[in-house]
Amino acid sequence: MNIKSANFVISNTDVAKCPNEPLPEYAFIGRSNVGKSSLINSLTERKSLAKTSGRPGKTQLINHFKINGNWFLVDLPGYGYARVSKKSKNTFQKYITDYFIKREQLVCAFVLVDIRHEPQKIDMEFMEWLGENNIPFCIIFTKADKLKPKAIEENVNKYISELLNGVWEEAPSYFITSSSKGYGRDDVLNFIDNIN
Ligand code: GDP
Repeated sequence: MNIKSANFVISNTDVAKCPNEPLPEYAFIGRSNVGKSSLINSLTERKSLAKTSGRPGKTQLINHFKINGNWFLVDLPGYGYARVSKKSKNTFQKYITDYFIKREQLVCAFVLVDIRHEPQKIDMEFMEWLGENNIPFCIIFTKADKLKPKAIEENVNKYISELLNGVWEEAPSYFITSSSKGYGRDDVLNFIDNIN
């Protein structure tokens, strides 16, 4: 997929106020600092479409970007960062769970996880929650440039086997990416292209 246009449309915390257009939608979510903004900027070839932030947990909004005039990329708030106030932390804010449950245009969620880390409880819980609610999702492993191929394979296998030890009968699709090197960019865009 060539990115011909990528435009910010609206930010809000209310799923009812998301764009009222019947375009397919792909949502990006993960723990703060996972590399979500960098990945969105790399996918769209824009330097600062999504704001990379020195203060993780700052962006607490549902952000819609229209891509090529025919699909929405949705940047959701990072979850589980301690510096976010206790009240707003509440693991997954209601407006985020509302978005996943109510947003009919949502085709697939991309759950980002840092390839360097062991499976984290909050990520596993979130994927379980998506599964229980029949929300289709894929995993995007980020920062793959930080590890050697063998370590990448080991860490991916750890994740997948942990998922298969839980409630899953089948592992979700996954992508191995690096925004700084551009790895996996075409895989993610082709996946979206093939569904659209
Ligand atoms: P967000 O909070 O999830 O939006 O994360 P950011 O995109 O702001 O990235 C968090 C930090 O990780 C920043 O210091 C980025 O430079 C770094 N980062 C993001 N993606 C990559 C990557 O692919 N490779 C490396 N080495 N660092 C990355």
